[in-house]
Amino acid sequence: MAEKPTYKELEKRLRQFKQAESERRRIEKDYQTLFREMLDGFALHEIICDEMGKPVDYRFLAVNPSFERMTGLKSQDIEGMTVLQVLPGIEPHWIETYGRVALTGEPAFFENYSSELGKHFKVTAFQPAPQQFACIFIDITDRKRAEEERIRLNADLAAKNTELEQMVYVASHDLRSPLVNIDGYSKELAFAINDLRSALADLPAADKAPELSSILDREIPEALKFIRASTSKMDTLLTGLLRLSRLGRAALKIEPLDMNKLIAIVIESTEFQIKEAGFELDVGELPPCRSDAVQVNQVFSNLLDNSLKYAEPKRPGLIRISGNVEGDRAVYCIEDNGIGMASDHREKIFEIFHRLQPSLYKGEGLGLTIVKRILGRLEGNIRVESELGGGSRFYVALPIVEK
Ligand code: ADP
Repeated sequence: MAEKPTYKELEKRLRQFKQAESERRRIEKDYQTLFREMLDGFALHEIICDEMGKPVDYRFLAVNPSFERMTGLKSQDIEGMTVLQVLPGIEPHWIETYGRVALTGEPAFFENYSSELGKHFKVTAFQPAPQQFACIFIDITDRKRAEEERIRLNADLAAKNTELEQMVYVASHDLRSPLVNIDGYSKELAFAINDLRSALADLPAADKAPELSSILDREIPEALKFIRASTSKMDTLLTGLLRLSRLGRAALKIEPLDMNKLIAIVIESTEFQIKEAGFELDVGELPPCRSDAVQVNQVFSNLLDNSLKYAEPKRPGLIRISGNVEGDRAVYCIEDNGIGMASDHREKIFEIFHRLQPSLYKGEGLGLTIVKRILGRLEGNIRVESELGGGSRFYVALPIVEK
């Protein structure tokens, strides 16, 4: 038989009991303060199942003020009620997900939309006791709306871009045939003038009007020369526009690229020009990147061509290619000691048909526009540092190969 506790022991146990009770009250008070003051919505529920044990509804046991603020539902109106009584149109996924948590004890983390409340929520649900579930949630409606708006604007932009590309394509394509006609008929006209000139040559001098020879020998041929020069220029522009409009349609194959190999291939195809122009070429060790080989080849071919083209004749040409990793980007620099450019031109050179010295150098003013366009598609970018007479450095950034 167990011995009766002494008075002292009873007193000790009572003290311990009182201490535990006061500790419990303190914890409960803390919990209630947290429940009341927390910014996240909090709600405790019990799950209601049908006779097969399938969750079909749930009852609100307690909700905090943040819950009331976020849902617009008041605790006195809903505590003790079931969700189907409060929100009859609630989507089945809420009851299914919460049912799983309350019955299995597996917590759930998810984002979902409630059409009844017209809001998006980010929810953490867990099982505090069998058949019960508690959720902590925040209202993410503003974030979701901003995200949806961003997606919509991006889709809009992509559609407008495609439309614009299509327009440029059709316009440049369709403008070519009248251009071919103008060019063809101006050639015919040149032949006709020659015939006219020969016919006139056979006439006796007295029958020739003196101003006729100036018209036939100078004015018409000169006008024809300008027409032919303009058609040829227009042809170049149309070809350029056509090339640009096709860029957006080229399929991309994104993969890890060994840039040492890729640049070696680019250099190989320009080797003759480099040797002929007596350029020194210095290529450093280049980090790999994740991109499309054909497009990246085009980028560096254009940049290398420009470095060769815009050389300063007074000094031996030098081109340096280097690269390193900066955060999540591989940044490559192609540097020349060529003619460079004044600071106010640095951004404009990427604009379509923008050329700084059109009379001195051949070109279409499209190379850098194409480069920028390609890099945009590859999630890369380009910037230039340059001084007039002091060479240029073009920096190309592309995504790195993730480890
Ligand atoms: P293009 O070379 O056909 O004119 P780009 O679009 O490639 O067209 O270049 C636009 C302009 O930028 C060039 O006309 C030139 O004035 C300037 N430019 C480009 N690359 C260089 C460079 N490496 N050094 C100096 N100027 C350059």
